[in-house]
Formats: sequence, structure tokens, C-alpha cells
Amino acid sequence: MPRTTCPYCGVGCGIVAEADASGDIRIAGDRAHPANRGKLCSKGTHLGETIGLEGRLLAPMIGGQEVGWDAALDDVAERLRTTVAEHGPDAVAFYVSGQLLTEDYYVANKLAKGFIGTGNIDTNSRLCMASAVAAHNRAFGEDVVPCSYADLDDADLILLVGSNTAWCHPVIWQRIEAAREARGTKLVVIDPRRTETAERADLHVAVAPDGDVALFNALLAEMAARGLVDEDYLRNHCVVPDGFWDGLGTAAVAQFAELADLVAAHPRMVTLFSQGVNQSDSGTNKGNAIINLHLATGRINTPGAGPFSITGQPNAMGGREVGGLATTLACHLGFTDEEREEVARFWQAPALAKAPGLKAVDLFRAVADGRIRFIWIMATNPAVSMPDAGAVRAALALCPHVVVSDMFGDTDTARFAHVRLPSLGWGEKDGTVTNSERTVSRQRPFLPSPGNARADWRIICDVAVRLGYGHAFAYSSPVEIFREYAAMTGLARRAGKRLDLAALAHISDAAYDALEPFQWGGRHPLARGFSTPDGKARLVAVTPPAARKDPDFPFRLNTGRYRDQWHTMTRTGRSARLAAHRREPLVEIHPADAATLALAEGALARLVTPVGEAVYRAAVSEGQSRGQLFVPMHWSDTNASLGRTGRLVPALADPHSGQPALKNVPA
Ligand code: SF4
Repeated sequence: MPRTTCPYCGVGCGIVAEADASGDIRIAGDRAHPANRGKLCSKGTHLGETIGLEGRLLAPMIGGQEVGWDAALDDVAERLRTTVAEHGPDAVAFYVSGQLLTEDYYVANKLAKGFIGTGNIDTNSRLCMASAVAAHNRAFGEDVVPCSYADLDDADLILLVGSNTAWCHPVIWQRIEAAREARGTKLVVIDPRRTETAERADLHVAVAPDGDVALFNALLAEMAARGLVDEDYLRNHCVVPDGFWDGLGTAAVAQFAELADLVAAHPRMVTLFSQGVNQSDSGTNKGNAIINLHLATGRINTPGAGPFSITGQPNAMGGREVGGLATTLACHLGFTDEEREEVARFWQAPALAKAPGLKAVDLFRAVADGRIRFIWIMATNPAVSMPDAGAVRAALALCPHVVVSDMFGDTDTARFAHVRLPSLGWGEKDGTVTNSERTVSRQRPFLPSPGNARADWRIICDVAVRLGYGHAFAYSSPVEIFREYAAMTGLARRAGKRLDLAALAHISDAAYDALEPFQWGGRHPLARGFSTPDGKARLVAVTPPAARKDPDFPFRLNTGRYRDQWHTMTRTGRSARLAAHRREPLVEIHPADAATLALAEGALARLVTPVGEAVYRAAVSEGQSRGQLFVPMHWSDTNASLGRTGRLVPALADPHSGQPALKNVPA
């Protein structure tokens, strides 16, 4: 039976999948995969129910007309050529996705940054972990996750920050629970909400929304006061800015003393952080506050210790590696003259991008104000998932050239497309993905390609050929792209980076087919030194954001995920069993707040923010702190009349990472 990788979260579970003669799909966890050792969560288990031809886009469309591939590709190439000729390369943008495979990502990035000459290729991973990327770059000199899932097995204390792990990364959660059972690992959850994860922790610290910088600064000050800073490690492996220790401050959290006692008593400590940290306009500073604590106490690069950002999407990491973020050129390289020269030589690029492109929020602003006149959106649904989604829809409606590649023909975003291109989906695609701990796994096809759908890499290359770049995009299979990508990581290695797959630059077709999951960089890739010129990490002085109060909007609104749904439900919404977990979008509210508003359990509630409004059914919950609300992210104009959360969130972004603040919204 084919072995492949789950298409949902960044845990990256191995799956054994098979379609029988009647079309039924059998799914099981892959016992040989290091990420999950045979385990799956509800989304993985019910994958077979989310696959089918209903709603699939099976042929290219121009306007409402079905056309052949040649006509569609000619049309896209002509739109691109005209846009560049009349408005320059920066009038072109690509908005791609953590659902793309690494090979798809690689050719999209190469076409945009090397041949069209624009940095404007960004990804929905910007909404997911861009703040962690920026924090890694500031602290380590490279976007490297410094630890591995095995560190969860070896830790004595795990801090989960801004992560409802039991729902959002369930197989990691099972691993944490196993470690607690086996060796008594202590678990602390730092989260404004009392989630299911928090209820099962040894300690729940109900931090204020965006209170993480203050909390981790105060923890570091407390460790220093207790003599627990590792002076040797700091001297030998870190650079500490002048004045760093001044004004770390104190934390006004009820459980602070208990938390500090646990941190002081357990040097083998992993801090696992996710969207509650990243999706904030202080997200990068939060990441650095966490990393500062680990560096200053020497809790990094040893078994059972490290700051561990876990990704939301199955291939957010692969996209980061090849350069799918507007802020990276390619393969962990940036835009210095030397890096540009190396990349231009490697690609034989005629028009290398001169500077970083626009990050997602700014990119759609540029679509709105006409600076971007051509956008190609692949495997994602920004008309629902972007903040201020109404403004994104208005921008797409005005854009002269919108191309959408997707499995489905009628997503909220596809409705704005001038050209729709049918892509292969999970079970049909062939390539690689990288999970949260840098393990590269194969996604293998086990289903026939439906209709005229094609692989994303092939569609991109077919357009590149029409633009006259056939010599550089003459790939006939994903392995040829993988070999080139692996060879290109040699540039990163020579530049002192840890990303290095160059040993696979000559992998045979058969070896690629049979490729077992492997982890680049090993368990602790920064143990032999950080990726800075002097090999030392940087502590970064960070200050908490100012407290926010707005008399017109007295609540703080938090948005997030339900256990059994994925993003905008274009796939998981098809399974009745997955829908049974939460049938409707609920607004969760503390009983005292509900009483003040005379809001009964199950009543309809209209939620208003500075940018929009949406209706939810009320769920009165002690898990919410007073003055705070929680709503799910999944429902949209297409799939519901309730719960259109994308309308509620303003397009406010972290100044360092550009990651939108999808939580802590005034309401
Ligand atoms: Fe898929 Fe994530 Fe569930 Fe694993 S934990 S089965 S990767 S959704």
C-alpha cells in the first residue's frame, strides 16, 4: 500500500493509503514514520471521507467557459507578459500556500524571483508562522527550528504557549501525554483561554492577550534573580546587547510564582509555541522573548530542551526552505549582493528580484490600490482566510488579471478568477513536504488524476515555457525539481547556513520514489554553532506592547481552530463525521459577560469589530476569561450564513514579520 504524508497539519504524520476497486479509500497511520509512529488524529483518520469529485475543477476555465490547457496557458502567459511590459515586474504577484509541495513551491519561487524579476511571491504561511521565522532569523541568523519531537520525550517540563495542542496538533499532544505518563513530565499551558489542553495541564497560566512578552521577560528576570542564568553559555555562545538586563519587568499573572518555581526546578525544558504567539502584532518579539529565556539559561541544543515553533500547515516548512516567503530570496538566502549573485548564477536568472517583495497583507493592499495588476493564487482561499477579508474580495474584484489554481472551482476566491486552472489534490500529487521538526517526507499519489487536472509544478512550468524560459523549466517529473533544489541548498551551506540537502542532488528516480522520511540538520542543527557570522546567537531586547482599551469595543476577540476542521473547510467540510464535532460556529463568552448582555446559551449574537460584523450562536463557557471572546476561523460566505470570521479581523500586522494579528481583536 502507498505510503504518503497527511495533508493537514505541520505534525506531518505518515499515512498508509489505498483506494480499492470500488473507490473506497482505506487510511491508516504509518508505523514506520518518525513523526507519528502509526498514530493519527480525527482529521487524518477520516481523510478518505474528504476526497471525491464533488466540486472539483476538472478543466481549465476562462471566465465561465471551459477551455483546453493550451488556450488557458497561453492566456495566462499573455496576461503576465502584458502586465510586465506595461507596468513592470512588481505589478505581478503570486500568493501561494503551505498546501503546495516543495517542488511546486520551488518552481513558483524560481519563476517569480528569478525570471519575472519580482519579489512579490508570498504564502499563506505568512498567516501561520512568519513571526517565528523572523524571531529565528534575529536570534540564530537563520530560520532554523533548533529542536525535535524527540525532545518532547526527554523534557522534564513542557511549556505550551498559545497552542491548543490537543485540538490543533493532536499527535504531538498524544506524544506529550505519553511522556507525562512514562516519566512524569510537567506540563504548563500559557493561554488566555482554558482550552481542552489547558484543562489537562499541571498548571494553566491565563496570560492576558498579548501578555507573553511581559511574562517571558519577567520569567527571565526571575531566573536571573535566582542565579539560574548560565553565564558560561552566554559568554561562549551568545551576544547580549547593552542594557538587556535592565527593565525586564515583572508579570501580573496570578500563577507567576508557581510557574517560576517549575521553570527553576526543571532545566530540561521545551517551550512549544504556535499561533497564539505568532498571530500578533508583537509576534516576533514574543518569539524572541521565549528564545531569550532558553539562551540565557542554556536550555537549547541539548536533549529535552529548546524553543520549538510548531507549524500549522503540512508544508509551511518546505515553503520556508525554498524561499516561498517574500522576505527570502531562495534556500534560506536573502537579498545581499553576494547572495543575489550566487542565486542568479545558479538559476542563470535573467531578471533576479532586487529586493524582498510585499508580505501578504501589503500584497493585497497593493492589489487594492492598483500597484499589483496580475495575481496568481495557488491552493489557498484568501477571500476567507486573510484579515479584513471583505477588503481582499474588493481588491480581487478590481484586479485586471486574477488567476487561481485550485482543486475546487467554486471557492470564495475562485469566484474572482479570470482564469481557473484545475490542480491535483492530495492522493494525486507527487513530491515532498517538510514538517515542524524538519523531517522531509514523500507525498505519493495513489489515485488517478481527475479530469484534466495537473500538478501545480507542471502548470507553472508550462507558463514559464510560454514566456520563453523553457530552458530553465524543462522538468519532466518532480524528482528533477527536487534534485535541483537539493543542489541549490549547497549555496546555503557555503553561506554558513544549516539548510543542506546537497547530498541528495544526484538522487536517482528510484531512490526518490523509495525515499524514507529524513530530518535535515539532525536533532539539534544549531549545536555546532549558530548561523551568524561569529557563530553566536543573539539575545534580542524586547518590550511588551502597550495595553489596549477601547470604550467602543470592550471585548478582546480571539480566533482559532476547531478540532475537526481545516482552514476554510473546502475539504474537511465534506465529512459528516468531522462536522459532528462542532456543527455551527459559536462565540464563546464568559457567564458573567453573557449575563451582563442578557445573552442566553444558544441565542444568536451579532459580533461587531472596527472592520465588520458577523453572527454566531452563543456558547456560555467558564473557559473564557471575562472580557474575552473566542470564535472559529473556518466558516465563510460560501459555506454558511453564520460565523464569517474573516470579516471581523483588521489587517494589522507585526512590523518585523508581517504576520497578521488574527487574535486580540477589539470587539
Ligand atoms: Fe494529520 Fe496533523 Fe492529524 Fe497528524 S496530527 S493526522 S498531520 S492533522
